[in-house]
Amino acid sequence: MFELKVVTNFAAAHQLDLTGRKCENLHGHNWKIEVFTTGKKLDNSGVLLDFGIIKQNLKNVINNLDHKFLNELPLFTEKFPPSSENIARYIGLEIEKLLNKEAAGVKISKVTAWESDTSAASWINPV
Ligand SMILES: [Zn+2]
Repeated sequence: MFELKVVTNFAAAHQLDLTGRKCENLHGHNWKIEVFTTGKKLDNSGVLLDFGIIKQNLKNVINNLDHKFLNELPLFTEKFPPSSENIARYIGLEIEKLLNKEAAGVKISKVTAWESDTSAASWINPV
């Protein structure tokens, strides 16, 4: 089994409904995003997947979030608020969809969203 990891960043604002917690106030983060891809089979070049393909598709997904007020985006709702957990899930599902258009069968195993140097949430693909 092989695992690839790419890392990117984006800046955005959000507001979470956590009674009495400081995240209720509108605030921003410089999120660090780690995307993990796994697979068993290497191609004829000896790679699982070209890093450039992952990075380009990740960039397209991040463009939907970068420098936005996340609560105002239609992809987030009251039932799917823009927490780091849901951001990680959105990025994972979205990039997997895009990557499969170029390379069928690509699996995103995990996405980690760091909202500070000490706090991160991960979405782990249940499949
Ligand atoms: Zn926050």
